Amino acid sequence: MIEVKNKKISVIGAVRSGVSAAKLIKKLNGIPFVSDLNDEEKLKDYIIELQREGIEYETGEHSEKVYDCDVMVVSPGVPLDAPVVVKAKEKGIKLISEVELAYQNCKGKVIAITGTNGKTTTTSLCGHVFNHCGYNTFVAGNIGLAFSEIALDVEENEFVALEVSSFQLDLIDEFKPKAAIILNITPDHLNRYENSFDKYAESKQNIYRNQDAHDYLILNKDNGEVIKYLKEHKSKSFYFSLNEEVDNGCFKEDNRIHFRKNGKEKFVCSVSDIKIKGEHNVSNAMAVICAAKIFGLDNEKIVRSLQTFEGVEHRLELVREIDGIKFINDSKATNVDSVWYALRSFDEPVFLILGGQDKGNDYSQIKELVIEKVKKIYAIGSSAEKIFNFFHNDVKVEIKNSLEEVVTAAMNEAREGDVVLLSPACASFDMFDNYEHRGEVFKKAVQSL
Ligand code: ADP
Repeated sequence: MIEVKNKKISVIGAVRSGVSAAKLIKKLNGIPFVSDLNDEEKLKDYIIELQREGIEYETGEHSEKVYDCDVMVVSPGVPLDAPVVVKAKEKGIKLISEVELAYQNCKGKVIAITGTNGKTTTTSLCGHVFNHCGYNTFVAGNIGLAFSEIALDVEENEFVALEVSSFQLDLIDEFKPKAAIILNITPDHLNRYENSFDKYAESKQNIYRNQDAHDYLILNKDNGEVIKYLKEHKSKSFYFSLNEEVDNGCFKEDNRIHFRKNGKEKFVCSVSDIKIKGEHNVSNAMAVICAAKIFGLDNEKIVRSLQTFEGVEHRLELVREIDGIKFINDSKATNVDSVWYALRSFDEPVFLILGGQDKGNDYSQIKELVIEKVKKIYAIGSSAEKIFNFFHNDVKVEIKNSLEEVVTAAMNEAREGDVVLLSPACASFDMFDNYEHRGEVFKKAVQSL
């Protein structure tokens, strides 16, 4: 356990989780110092908070002062090979992530959720189900509040549904969630891991590194990489699968979802009880049902909570239906894998909006599905030409300059029963501030039709 009281602790990164970490350090009577390479103007809202809290900070550089500390908290946005991190390591400074700091100061039970895709949806569903069933649960991590923001508020008998990225898991020490969920592992963020899929997949294994026989590990049996990279562990394993029966965990058979423990049936519901759309969301919901049953939540209440969960903004979100044409905002689909799942979620013909900042995308993974389901692709952003070149022999592709142009064109070309789907497979930074901004622009264009 890291001693915080009266200790100097540097925090690298002055955005959401860094600022929350600094506030937590201050509450624990430690001495935080926040440092960020970005200039003050860019960090405006966060700096105001630091000033209000009387927390010392610097912007535009990492001065020598950052090394005058016992511990350094590294924000998830800062790569481990950043010079400041490398130098701190050389000086023997202990490095931890914000999640580790928060964990060490939280009395509650943590359900940690990781994976390449589906973290936010599953974490949010987990919070919804647990709260609905009468178990007080905080939703934290990348979604909602940073873990450090709420850590001290959680009582011993309360839960935290915690979304954890592999960046947060890279710098853990004692982090030991009561339950850990690994949803899937597919290529993404490889630039942070020296372009090594092995390294990326291995970093996810940290989620259960410290678990013991009183803890639980919930794994997606359908995802080859989740199983392949699994290491020895002491926690009890539960599995979820869309394809095969399991004795400990959740599986889908025909249109029913079952949960079994030691081969005994403990819970059944219908697939149609899960309100959020798509097979991937059935998978996400099964992960949550595993957690819910492990902690003994009531069956009827679980079913009712699944029926009332609307999903999360920017993830297969129905914006509007006009003349029988559905407009769907899946702006959070920033990799090819999530587009594959998005397309699988619709039986209707699709007008697909693809493009943005390319992350080394390989579109061959969705080629067949695109040919089967997509009437036309609208390509946008800096990767528009790459998308055109890849698909134009098989599907109609048109390059457009803006989402507004796309929405107007789609409204003219789509027919009753079609779906217009923004599921871009790319980052948004070439045209927008972030994926939320991209989603908002799309929704605004649709609302103004
Ligand atoms: P994350 O927080 O891991 O980025 P989100 O819940 O925000 O995950 O979803 C990101 C994108 O991935 C969305 O387009 C969503 O529809 C899709 N998605 C959600 N769950 C899964 C899953 N289990 N497998 C693949 N894609 C998924």
